[in-house]
Amino acid sequence: MSAEKSLAIVVRTIEFSETSVVATLFTEKFGKISALAKGARRPKGPFESALDLLAVVRIVFLHKSSGALDLLTEAKLERRFRAAARDLSRLYAGYYVAELLTELTDEGDPHADLFSAADRTLARLDADAPVAPTLLDFELTALRLLGHLPSLHDCVGCGNPVEAAGRIAFGLIVGGVLCPSCRPGQRQVVSISAPALVAMRKLTKETDENTEPTELEPKVRGELRGILSSYLAHLLGHKPRMHDYLRTLR
Ligand SMILES: [Zn+2]
Repeated sequence: MSAEKSLAIVVRTIEFSETSVVATLFTEKFGKISALAKGARRPKGPFESALDLLAVVRIVFLHKSSGALDLLTEAKLERRFRAAARDLSRLYAGYYVAELLTELTDEGDPHADLFSAADRTLARLDADAPVAPTLLDFELTALRLLGHLPSLHDCVGCGNPVEAAGRIAFGLIVGGVLCPSCRPGQRQVVSISAPALVAMRKLTKETDENTEPTELEPKVRGELRGILSSYLAHLLGHKPRMHDYLRTLR
């Protein structure tokens, strides 16, 4: 059992006893962990209010061996997610970031790059970045960093390049665009417009991380929202809880 330190995002807290909680934290160095925070529910407990959902905290924890919960010994608040108090859509967007971090990653599988992307996304939501494109950018970045990005340039059937013209077939199960010869016989295929495909290609390019997501044309944005929601639901095997809310995002 060793003491470890990391920056972390609080993605879930569950009451464990009168005084304690189990916190799920997405850490920079160790990926997702679940840790018992003793006394966290006491008003003047050792964590004060550092373990608020979506807060960025600097933690120290004791790493337990297989199966046992880690033990959180320290959590210092770096940044609270304040957007919640201001704007419900930003709060739900934050919940969705937490949901994706929880659902798309396994415990103890480190992804420092995904941590940075999530940290950046929460900071943007906390500021004035437009909500819908900020989320699209995070979803596509997360998929790219975790190796789940759909094929957007080459046909998933034959590997030939697919031109962004007219309507393009997109296979939800096979995970990407299909050329006209490979499309027949495929199940769960949707068709996307050329502008939506172009926008998706652009959003998935590795760009300078300081580039702020820009607002998309409403029609293209709506189409991307639909495709990504269906694709993620297929990938996860169920519909994410926050997807109904995403449909209402303007
Ligand atoms: Zn093909």
